[in-house]
Formats: sequence, C-alpha cells, structure tokens
Amino acid sequence: MKDEYRRCLLCPRRCGVDRSAGELGFCRQDDRIRLACATRHFGEEPPLTEGGGSGTLFFSGCTLRCGFCQNVQLSRSEVGAIVDENDLAEIFLEMEARGARNLNFVSATPFLPGIEGALEKARHQGLSLPVVWNGSGYETVETVRRLAGFVDIFLPDLKLLDPPRSGRLFAARDYPRVAVAAIRVMVDAAPLRWEEGELKGGTIVRHLVLPGLIEESLRVLEWCAENLRDRALLSLMLQFSVPPESRGRSGRKAGLEYRQVRSDEYDRLLRQLDDLGIEEGFIQEADDEEEWWPNFEDPNPFPAQYSKVVWSCNVPGGFTEGR
Ligand code: SF4
Repeated sequence: MKDEYRRCLLCPRRCGVDRSAGELGFCRQDDRIRLACATRHFGEEPPLTEGGGSGTLFFSGCTLRCGFCQNVQLSRSEVGAIVDENDLAEIFLEMEARGARNLNFVSATPFLPGIEGALEKARHQGLSLPVVWNGSGYETVETVRRLAGFVDIFLPDLKLLDPPRSGRLFAARDYPRVAVAAIRVMVDAAPLRWEEGELKGGTIVRHLVLPGLIEESLRVLEWCAENLRDRALLSLMLQFSVPPESRGRSGRKAGLEYRQVRSDEYDRLLRQLDDLGIEEGFIQEADDEEEWWPNFEDPNPFPAQYSKVVWSCNVPGGFTEGR
C-alpha cells in the first residue's frame, strides 16, 4: 500500500482524498492501477516511433476534463482492467521483447507510485527501455521533479494560455499557469540530447490546434518561441476530431468550433512559425479526409497501421498473440 494514496496530492487538483479507502477524487481512480491498452504505436512523433514503435500505455482516468477528448472512454474511466505492479512489469518487459523503442506513459499521473514500483521491478529483470512521460502538461512542479528521476523524454501538451477559456474547456482555470510552470521544470530537467541522430532525452511540447481558436495557437507559438528556443522541440498537431455525438451539428463552446482545422488556418500557423523563426520540431499535415476516433472497447483501439497491440483489457489473459 502506498501511503501517498491515503491523501492524494499527486496532481494540481490536490484532492486530498483517501484513495486507499476507495474515495475518488477528480480523476475517479482508487489506489489500484487501471490499464486499458499497451501497444506499439506508430502515430507519435518520428523520434519516438522509428523502428519498433513507441510502447504506449493507456491508463484510465484523467486530471482534466476536455469536452473534445479523443480518449474519452479512458478519461471518463469507462474502460480499463486492474493490474498490479508485477503485471505491469511483465507488460513492460513484453513491450521490449516485441521491439518497442520506449515506454510511453499516457495520462498516467494518478498511478505514479505504482508505475515507479513496476519500473523498479522490471529494471531488476533487465528492462532497458527509455521512458516517455506523455500528458496534458497539468502537473505539479513537485511531481515533475520526481518524474525527472526516471523520465528520459517529457511529452507535455501546452493547450491554451487563457485562464477563463481553460476553465470552460478543460475544467481547469489554472491550466495555463500550472502547465507553463511544469514545462519550464521539464525543459530544465531534460535538456535535448541527440546521439547519432537519435533523440535520447529532452522535451517535446505538443500543441493541438483547436478550430476557431487560432488566435490562441498563435499565442502558444509565441510563448514557445520566447521560452523554448533551442531547448525543446515543438510538435504542432492538427488531428482535432469532432466528437462522434457532435458530428453533423454546428457545436461551439468557448470559441471552439466542432469542425476540422481549415486550410486558411493551417496556412496562418505556418506563416507564424516562419515569422517566429521556429524551425525545429514537428507538424502534422492537414488532412481533411482522415477523421477517426479510437475505440478502447476494441482489442486494437487504433487503425492497424498505427498500432500493434501487446496487451489489452479486451483480450482474454491480456496479452495478444506473439509471445
Ligand atoms: S491524482 Fe486524482 S485524486 Fe489525486 S489529486 Fe489528482 S485528481 Fe485528485
């Protein structure tokens, strides 16, 4: 039993609930690790996926509540199976055996103590994969400092810089202040480190462009140019998808429009990158044709070309064939 679950302060919500007694905070998770899927993912940034794919682990629960979340089945805690530290260590080792390039923990902060325990067990059994911490950027400085002890690459979002809008869209008015502080610590703790063309350490800051909120994206790019130049990589993402329940309707919330990013908006962002002299990083191609939504109730939640599943809560026994 981890003592810190007795009064949980792991994320900026600082709920203070006793998760070991079954009390649930904002993330709706008790003290057990709840995992939905572990897959070799090929849809992440190239330095994370080249070769055998990024060994991506999707957990239940989230510390934000974004109305447009693609992983809503996870963030609402609808999908996932309980695993203990030994199970998780076994999954890590299987990821490495099947060729994953790293372990990529997605929105995993509520399970940080259990993940640390599982990593320690797996390291003793020979695990050598680097660790990627992939999240919303909504982390406490204390948690980031703790993560810095074992994370090689931080992969935070920087979603918006406007507090009222963050309150309306993510249920976190303090998101801009918290995320900026967390990213500063990540960048200090994990300097960019390349060896023979391979990214071995550093921070990749992701920004998902939200249709209708291009001004917000321009501000985020400015912040990145002022604060991250030569110290971190920027990843500009254009994969916003309209939630299935909102398709065919002209949904709009806090300025966000439920449609895909238009080509004129994309062009404006490219000009901004040019004007700011941001050259290092990644940008998704605008593709009107491609709109898909992961289904975590399937053994493989993603299109097959993006994902080779190693373990799933929807497969009897957990592991897929290939052991
Ligand atoms: S991890 Fe969950 S319970 Fe703990 S502070 Fe964050 S939201 Fe609250």
